[in-house]
Amino acid sequence: MALVNEHFLKLQSNYLFSDIAKQVNRFRVTHPKAKLIRMGIGDVTQPLAPAVIEAMHRAVDEMARKETFHGYGPEQGYPFLIEAIIKHDYERLGVFIEPSEVFISDGAKSDCGNIGDMLRHDNSIGVLDPVYPVYIDSNVMAGRTGTFQDGHWSDVVYIPCTEENGFVPQLPSRRVDIIYLCYPNNPTGTTLTKEQLKAWVNYALANDAIILYDSAYEAYIQDPAIPHSIYEIKGAKQVAIEFRSFSKTAGFTGVRCGYTVVPKEITASTLTGERVPLNKLWNRRQCTKFNGTSYITQRGAEAVYSPEGREQVKKTIQYYMENARLMKEGLEMCGLRVYGGVNAPYLWVKVPDGLSSWRFFEKLLYEVNIVSTPGAGFGPSGEGYLRLTAFGDRDETREAIGRIQHWMR
Ligand code: PLP
Repeated sequence: MALVNEHFLKLQSNYLFSDIAKQVNRFRVTHPKAKLIRMGIGDVTQPLAPAVIEAMHRAVDEMARKETFHGYGPEQGYPFLIEAIIKHDYERLGVFIEPSEVFISDGAKSDCGNIGDMLRHDNSIGVLDPVYPVYIDSNVMAGRTGTFQDGHWSDVVYIPCTEENGFVPQLPSRRVDIIYLCYPNNPTGTTLTKEQLKAWVNYALANDAIILYDSAYEAYIQDPAIPHSIYEIKGAKQVAIEFRSFSKTAGFTGVRCGYTVVPKEITASTLTGERVPLNKLWNRRQCTKFNGTSYITQRGAEAVYSPEGREQVKKTIQYYMENARLMKEGLEMCGLRVYGGVNAPYLWVKVPDGLSSWRFFEKLLYEVNIVSTPGAGFGPSGEGYLRLTAFGDRDETREAIGRIQHWMR
């Protein structure tokens, strides 16, 4: 008899976005004529940069000829992309990364979800609350989270990020072995200064902990003082793994490409105290379970770093950030308290009148025909907030804010 991994049975109902999709489908059936504006899911709407398209076309042509055809590539990614990443994403920050420390993947979600393969099931974990659900659910599957009661997993340390603490997470009072940090943050759209991030690196160094640092939104940082990479902090290479993605940086949500940096210095311990380099383990894991990102995709990603690619991608990011500005200003004019949206494409809106976040989500859906994401779906401290994304079309964004302003009057 085959037995299931019963940890999967502990997963809470459905994935947040399926719950939202169900509500939206119900609404569409009962209101077929309503014009919905979607500001819920964090998916991009603008097309790929021309430089990326041209590079991918060229790569397709290469695949058409025997002399330039590519079969399986290196599981870790092609050197041409790894070199471009090191040069443009790290050298300009004064961060030294070796090619063998970079692992190209099909996106940050897979890597954030899979990274736990190399870590024992009984490590304690800490997450920021609210949290990108993948960090929690992948640990539920691995049996690291304990039991679910009153909205909390018993073995997860929740580190609240709320209005009350200015969205700056306090170091945990209970020891954690693994900490997930996400900056710029999804869902709150907030960031940490170098000093604030340094406190976490120092915590990890002092407590022999590992930081899993998700910087999928680093390209949205506008303020030059905010760190783009955790490796800008001294000592971070000993304690942090960094996840990056081309999804939001360059509109690759449907193309699929990201990368993870596992420095040579970072180690974890066996039960007998032997230190094991995680770079070696991750390489082994990838070679066993992953057969590489497609050549065509990696050529497309490489083009993001070309002079034209960089300009084009920057323009699209500015387009979304202008949406964010319009949204923030428009909502604040209604008297709403709005966080994020300055160095991130997410706005975290305080729900007015003490309503729950799901109730406010329903009101926005039924009364203004706007799809948002209820903050409660991101964890206990998300209750009382709502997430809006700036990835929409400009005209629709304007219309949505106009609708909310009219409705709130
Ligand atoms: N990390 C965070 C914080 C995200 O918000 C997302 C996507 O929304 C991802 C990772 C996933 O990125 P990818 O498309 O590269 O899998």
